[in-house]
Amino acid sequence: MKLQAFSQLTDSFSGTKKMPVLFTSHGNPMEALSDLNATPFFSSLGQVSKSIRDEYTINAVLVVSAHWLTRGTYVNASPKPATIHDYRGFPKEFYEIQYPAPGSPEFAKEVTTLIPAVKQTTEWGLDHGSWPVLRHLFPQADVPVFQMSIDYHQSAQYHFDLGRQLKSLRNKGVLMIGSGAVVHNLRAASERFFKGDMTPYGWEKEFDEWVKTQLDKKDITKLIHYEKAKLGLLAAPTPDHYVPMLYSLALMDDDETIEHTFEELLPAFSNRGFRIG
Ligand code: ZN
Repeated sequence: MKLQAFSQLTDSFSGTKKMPVLFTSHGNPMEALSDLNATPFFSSLGQVSKSIRDEYTINAVLVVSAHWLTRGTYVNASPKPATIHDYRGFPKEFYEIQYPAPGSPEFAKEVTTLIPAVKQTTEWGLDHGSWPVLRHLFPQADVPVFQMSIDYHQSAQYHFDLGRQLKSLRNKGVLMIGSGAVVHNLRAASERFFKGDMTPYGWEKEFDEWVKTQLDKKDITKLIHYEKAKLGLLAAPTPDHYVPMLYSLALMDDDETIEHTFEELLPAFSNRGFRIG
């Protein structure tokens, strides 16, 4: 009985125009406190947000963040998700910022209905892969937001297949954002970027361009099997920041194309972003 009532609730969102899908980087913690639009990267998010809000009614935002890694897959069903400061060694003000957006328990439940293997929890919130992005996309914190975790024990193919089961949410006004990075090698970054040395390695550009080429060709199979690509394991030695992109791509329909919204290279990182639909 309860389930039926719930179905009716989310069904009332049906028939909305098919929502776009985003993939974005989330910058580093040093940028998280930056003024709105202070960096080209965050400014581009503001522009993307405006163009979507001008055209669509957003009922909820679902973020798959590189920073919520679990055994099994969870959705946060909290009505008021906490702001999580999941980084260490930064000044006090980095732990005081809050992003007080409401959660979306209804759509979190809907995810568990679509994919029974996904479990609800209220023990997470909005992490550093999520709130710095949302803060620039929706500065008023007036759009309900919830996160889905990444099962860190599963393959890239598993993540892509799981993502595909969420496609119907696009027709209910849910904006899905994959938040990660195409290139993200912390060990290499610690030898240059984190020491202030902005000399590129070269391979970050080469792999980032390889990804862009596959995106343009919509060769999703190659992107899923990135570990077999020449520089895949150098650019993404751990899957956490790469996998969110696969969740975004999983929601793409055959007749859609990928619009590049931002690109930027740093030593051992790339801040590539795109929009589908
Ligand atoms: Zn990150």
